[in-house]
Amino acid sequence: MAIRAASINHLDLWMAHGAQRVTPPRVIAADGAGIVQESGDPAWKPGDEVLIFPTLCDWECEWCRSGENVRCPRFGVLGEHSNGTACELIHIDARNLFRKPAGLSWEEAAAFPLTFLTAWRMLTTRAQLRADETVLVIGAGAGVAVAAIQIAKHIGARVLATSRSEAKRKRALELGAEAAFDSSNFSKAVRTATKDGVDVVFEHVGPATLEESMRSLAMGGRIVTCGSTSGVKAEITMPRLFFRQASLLGSSMGNASEFEALLKAVDRGLRPVVDSVYPLDEVQAALTRLDAAEQFGKVVLSISS
Ligand SMILES: [Zn+2]
Repeated sequence: MAIRAASINHLDLWMAHGAQRVTPPRVIAADGAGIVQESGDPAWKPGDEVLIFPTLCDWECEWCRSGENVRCPRFGVLGEHSNGTACELIHIDARNLFRKPAGLSWEEAAAFPLTFLTAWRMLTTRAQLRADETVLVIGAGAGVAVAAIQIAKHIGARVLATSRSEAKRKRALELGAEAAFDSSNFSKAVRTATKDGVDVVFEHVGPATLEESMRSLAMGGRIVTCGSTSGVKAEITMPRLFFRQASLLGSSMGNASEFEALLKAVDRGLRPVVDSVYPLDEVQAALTRLDAAEQFGKVVLSISS
């Protein structure tokens, strides 16, 4: 497959910083869209426009056969456990390919798979967010959080957001968040805005925000998390968890069936936000933009063949 666009994630920064126990050289990036060059699978022929389902699995174990690719013993992320998409040509399992949604540019097609799949599973399968509920999205500049705002709006839920950056709070409002709060001590503002707190908190920051996230929960609320960018260990005030009948839910990537459901939502109008586009040979500058946490939405690599 000839890659036309790829996009980078926080994971790629950890790879570049050497935090992922991967021995270089390694081609980074999990997200890619492009054109089939050759195929041994009759499902695809040269010239087909496709994008990549970025979850790696063996497709054959009991979990995979029951549709739970994320529980496969061979589970991995493209670009972390294999070479990734920041390249011109990639050899990939035909089962990881899906037709590129019509109406999406190459950059948009490469911008959404990992973050939207992750946020989709978190909000729909794990937290089971409903249209009559309120969700609080933490750290509303990160790709996965921007995806969460859009997916929650798509579901029809009421959305609140937090960010340290005033510019990003403004962008969150433009995407449909009803209110956006500063990241410090946000639970007070959340409780004022909601009276009883929120039904779901969308977390990916971890120790820096978890306490405030728990304080923001309504009775019976759920915190769902896919990451911990502020450190790996966090303290929990236990009574807040049990007295409030709260749930703390972990989630990572998503299944092929969830990716298919997401693609249907894209067909119904869900669109990723592209922050910036860099040519492949300026990948260093793209990583630097992500490292500075200046982005809102996805940092994309454009790859000309
Ligand atoms: Zn498997």
